[in-house]
Amino acid sequence: MTESVGVDGGEGSGAPVERRCRWCRFPLAEHDGPGRPRQFCSQACRQWDWVSRQRARELALSDGELVMARSELDALHDDLYVLERAVADTRRVLEHDTTKSELLTALRWLLDAAAPLVDRRGRAPSDVGGERISS
Ligand SMILES: [Zn+2]
Repeated sequence: MTESVGVDGGEGSGAPVERRCRWCRFPLAEHDGPGRPRQFCSQACRQWDWVSRQRARELALSDGELVMARSELDALHDDLYVLERAVADTRRVLEHDTTKSELLTALRWLLDAAAPLVDRRGRAPSDVGGERISS
């Protein structure tokens, strides 16, 4: 066992480090059973990590480098742009006296704009299709 409790008797040493998925950084549930702690939040993330490391090896990339399909990066930027507009619009709505109906409309718009980004988390490599890394 390697527990680092009470090192130097310092204060606040008991704060647990939040474990996160190695692929998507989603917080992982507390590990309290036998065996190794989980490293991924889902099978999809485990697959993505594996594919990523295979390709990194093929291209002799370091741990800090990443190759991403242009189409995937463009789609991510598009989704972020939509979310950015929704956040700005919702802020504007909140700055004024609004009716409940206006608030609900803004909230729906915000949730709709966030949904594509949330959905990305659960996608496995096989869901994306046969995009290949090209040089
Ligand atoms: Zn994950």
